[in-house]
Amino acid sequence: MATSFSDYLAETKRSINEISVHELQQQLASRTDLTVIDIREADELTGGVIPSAKLVPRGFLELRVESIQPDRTKPLAIICAGGTRSALGTKSVSELGYEDVVSVAGGMGAWARAGFAVVAPKTLTDEQKARYTRQIRLPQVGEEGQQRLLASKVLCVGAGGLGSPLALYLAAGGVGTLGIIDNDVADVSNLQRQILHHEGVVGTPKVDSARQTLSRLNSGIEIRTYDERLTSENVIEIFSDYDIIVDGTDNFPTRYLINDACVFLGKPNVHGSIFYFDGQCTVFNHDGGPCYRCLYPEPPPPQLAPSCAEAGVLGAVCGVIGAMQAVEVMKLIVTAGEPLAGRLLSCDVLNMEFRQLKIRRDPSCPVCSESPTITALIDYEQFCDVTL
Ligand SMILES: [Zn+2]
Repeated sequence: MATSFSDYLAETKRSINEISVHELQQQLASRTDLTVIDIREADELTGGVIPSAKLVPRGFLELRVESIQPDRTKPLAIICAGGTRSALGTKSVSELGYEDVVSVAGGMGAWARAGFAVVAPKTLTDEQKARYTRQIRLPQVGEEGQQRLLASKVLCVGAGGLGSPLALYLAAGGVGTLGIIDNDVADVSNLQRQILHHEGVVGTPKVDSARQTLSRLNSGIEIRTYDERLTSENVIEIFSDYDIIVDGTDNFPTRYLINDACVFLGKPNVHGSIFYFDGQCTVFNHDGGPCYRCLYPEPPPPQLAPSCAEAGVLGAVCGVIGAMQAVEVMKLIVTAGEPLAGRLLSCDVLNMEFRQLKIRRDPSCPVCSESPTITALIDYEQFCDVTL
C-alpha cells in the first residue's frame, strides 16, 4: 500500500530523536564532542551557518558522515532549513549505526529566529570548484576538505628529489600556503630526478626555480621560499608558521634537526628517505606516535653517514616516495583514512616489494619522552650538508 509523504515523514519523526534549537545551543556550550552537520545545499547558506557546523549537502550525508565522525558512539546533530530533510537524514544516519544522532526541529530558520550566532560560510569560488572537482568528488575530501587544504600551511624542507614531486602534488592539490626551504643551486646532474627544475635554471637557486614552476602550476596558492640553510638558529621561527613539516632531505643532521623542532613545536613530520632502490615513508610525531629519535636515538658519526650526493639513485624512486609523502600530508589535512603514524612503509622498488614495520614510541627517547627543550637540539653544524 502506498504511503503519502506526510505519513512517511510523521512516521520518520516518531522513529528518531529531535531537539529544539534552544537545546542545540545549550548542548553546543556543554558537549565538546557534539558535531553539528548542516545538510543544506550551497545556495541555501547565504544567511549564515552555525560557527562549528560541518557542511555536507543532503545527497552526500551518508557518504561523508564516516569521515566527519568515524566514532558511531559520539553525538551528532543534523540540521537543515526547516527540519524535514534533517529528520530523513537522521533516520538514515541512525541506520548506519550512529547511536546518538538527533534532528534539529525547525532547522536554521528557527535558529535564526532565536537570534543565535551564525557566521558567513566559507565557500569555494567557481574557479576553485572547477579546478579541484576531481578531488572534491571524493567523499573523504568534499568541499570542506578542499577548504581545509586551501587554508593549510605546509613546509617542504628541500627542493630536491623528494621535495620536487611532493611540492608539485601539494601545489596541484591546492595546499594554500606552501613553503620551500633549500639553499642549493640547481645543477645539471639534479635534473634526472628533481623535476621541479629544468635546463634553463641550472646555476640559479633551487627555491627560485621551485617558485617559478609551482606558481605556473597553480597561481591560486601562496608560495613562500627560504633560500637559506635550515639551522638550529632559524628552525623554530620558520617551522612555527606551518601546520605540517615534510622532510624531503637526505642528510642526517637536517633529519634530526627537523625531528627535534617538530617535537618541540608539536607538529607532524612527514618523513621520506631513499637509499639506492629502497625507500621509506612514515609520519613522525603525530597523535602520540613515535618520533625519528624513537627509532634512531642518535645520529651516526659523520664519517659513517653515507653521502647521498655520491650514491646512485633512480629518479622515479624519488617520485614514488615523494608522492607517498604528498598523500600522507593531504590525508592529515582532510583527516581521511589512517595516517602512516607508528608504521614505517618500506619498499624495495628493484623487486617491487612493500613492507610495513610497526614502530613504537620509545619511553626513553631523548627528545619526545620528556618535556623537550631547545637545548636538546644537537650541534648540527659538525655535519656535512647534503641534499638528495
Ligand atoms: Zn621520540
